[in-house]
Amino acid sequence: MTEQDCIFCKIGKGEAPSTFLHRDDRCFVIRDIHPKAPIHLLVIPLRHITAVAGLAAGDELLVGHLLTVAGQAAKREGLAENGYRLVVNQGVDGGQEVAHLHVHVLGGRRLGAMG
Ligand code: AMP
Ligand code: ZN
Repeated sequence: MTEQDCIFCKIGKGEAPSTFLHRDDRCFVIRDIHPKAPIHLLVIPLRHITAVAGLAAGDELLVGHLLTVAGQAAKREGLAENGYRLVVNQGVDGGQEVAHLHVHVLGGRRLGAMG
């Protein structure tokens, strides 16, 4: 998938519809269109990075920012007390459907064991 037809790039540029729960100069937060939990958010960098393997030296601040924004968004959704799960799927075996790095924030129910 190229950047041109990447759905998350399109949303980030305002070329595809979505509602931003948060947006800054590096990332944005939206609700997952097919939620797997009562609260299911996606924290998405504006830059088209396919997966963690595409991160380079100098991206540490961006990665830290994504996790910081994920924590803040989870707190705003009322998930801080009971907890939640952050997931970053990678590639085919990891179940990654959209080849643009993103952090899932899942909560609002007791999540099952992973695997
Ligand atoms: P992953 O399987 O980790 O690549 O996750 C991709 C997620 O993006 C899936 O949970 C999809 O439901 C979600 N998704 C795909 N298209 C959209 C969209 N237009 N708006 C919101 N979420 C989307
Ligand atoms: Zn993209």
